[in-house]
Order: sequence, then structure tokens, then C-alpha cells
Amino acid sequence: MGGRFRHTGRELQSPAGLVDFIPAEMVSENQVIKQSQMKNFRKLTLDDTFQFSCRPGIGCFNCCCSDLNQYLTPYDILRLKKRLELSSGEFLGRYTSHHIGPESGLPIVTLKMSEHENLNCPFVGQAGCTVYPDRPGSCRIYPLARIVQRRPNQNACEEFHVVIKEPHCLGFKEPKEWTVREWKQDQEVALYDKMNDLLMDIISLKNRSNRRRLDHRENELFYLACYDLDRFRELVFEKRLWEGRPVEGETIRDLEEDNVALMRFGIEWIKGRLFGHGSQRGGDVP
Ligand code: SF4
Ligand code: SF4
Repeated sequence: MGGRFRHTGRELQSPAGLVDFIPAEMVSENQVIKQSQMKNFRKLTLDDTFQFSCRPGIGCFNCCCSDLNQYLTPYDILRLKKRLELSSGEFLGRYTSHHIGPESGLPIVTLKMSEHENLNCPFVGQAGCTVYPDRPGSCRIYPLARIVQRRPNQNACEEFHVVIKEPHCLGFKEPKEWTVREWKQDQEVALYDKMNDLLMDIISLKNRSNRRRLDHRENELFYLACYDLDRFRELVFEKRLWEGRPVEGETIRDLEEDNVALMRFGIEWIKGRLFGHGSQRGGDVP
């Protein structure tokens, strides 16, 4: 069995001199690696190995699926709402809360834990994760964390991984050994990585624009295009947002039927509407 993990893995807090990380508030609080701690982590390449296994029957089974500060990426939301056969609006209303991140200045969506004293994830059951095939990217990749960094004025990104050892997790005592590459393949995180990297493009543009805060309407549009995809689709067709703009690769039908194509379009549209990126896109919605 793979990981059914705690909220880990993913882009971490920005060390000094580097920009364009997913900000700290977008990772679970127990996974934020502070700049001063970075030296304690070994950078793993895809061929480096680590020892880990998570399985039913292990002493800590299910103990990592409660009391979490779990940020959901746009792609996490897309997968979960489809799995639960809900519209994006229904999913967001029922399972999440949102706020403006103090560090990023961008709308942040987090998963609401149960209100009982155990503060369980709403998707944990006796037998484990009830949304396992569509669990969030961070639940998949644990015990790894993916770090992507781009130095100022450089386009190329550096990607590496680190192992996050949480004391309660007995998975590290299991004998199974993985390379990073094998683990990521086993956990099927490739598309999650790709979609999260698109989000990082927005953060990068915002950082370069020196805009600390977006205004209320801009926050609404960001939320719509990134998280509330079904309502964004209505806006796209009501305002014919594709008109007069290059719709690379996506046909109009794709925007109607393919959530991933719509999300890609939405992220490009936000880059244009909010940061003037990509020339013509995104200018005509008040
Ligand atoms: S989504 Fe699944 S794996 Fe992630 S915390 Fe919830 S129950 Fe656990
Ligand atoms: S082995 Fe680790 S990831 Fe698996 S259930 Fe236990 S604490 Fe969670």
C-alpha cells in the first residue's frame, strides 16, 4: 500500500535569496520547513532512496488524518469534487473554508476538519482514506516533500525532495525501500506536480509585480478561476472569455468538457487579468 498520509510533501517555505515558493501558509503547519532548518534536510535526487511503508494494521494507522491544517490546491479540489460528484461550489461550501493568506496575499482554501473533539479529516474512515484514488497531492507524496525553487531573474527551476520524519509515524520502521522516483510513480503525483507548478507561476508573477495585496474583486476572480471551477466555466461562456485571445491547445469544447483544460485556461486568464501577463487575456471582466 502506498501513502495515505498526513499533509506533507510539497513546495515549502522560501529560503533566503530564493523566490517563487508556494508560501508557507499553503502547506500544513507541521510541514513548513523554516529557512534555518533547511540545512537539516538532505536534498534527494530522484534516484536517492528512503525506507518507508504505510499499510493497514500498522500501529499508527489513521492517526495522521486528524487535526490538520490542510491547504487544498486547485487541482486537489478538482479531483475531490469529481470523486464526490459535487459541483465545485457544493464541495467548497461543504468541506472547506478560505481566507487571504497573510504571506501570499492570495486566497487560500483549507479542508475543514470535523467539529468533534478528534478533529478528523472528513474523509477518514475505519478502513482508511475514503477518497484514496483522489486524495490530495500532499497526502500522496508523504513522507516526501517536494521543493521547487527559482532564483530571481532565472527561468529554470530547481526541484528536489526531502524526507519529513514525523515522530508518530511508524512507517519509517518498515523495511521497504524506495527511490524517490519509484515512490512518486507509485503515488501517481505527476499531474499534481504539473498543475501545482502552474500555480507557482501566478505566485511568481505576483512576487515580481511587488503587489502586496489584491483588491476584493481580484481576490474573487482568483478564487473563481482557481478553485470554483464550475462557476468559472459559467463566466467563461457568459462573457466568451476566449474571444480574441489565443487558446493554446484548448478548443472551446475542451473548456466546456475538460476540467483540466479549463483550469489551465483559468490560470492563464488570471495571469493576464491580474498581472497583465500574456498580452490580451483576461481584460474584459469587471
Ligand atoms: S484526504 Fe485521506 S489521506 Fe488525506 S488526511 Fe484525509 S483521510 Fe487522510
Ligand atoms: S505509517 Fe505514517 S502515514 Fe501511515 S498511517 Fe501511520 S502515521 Fe500515517
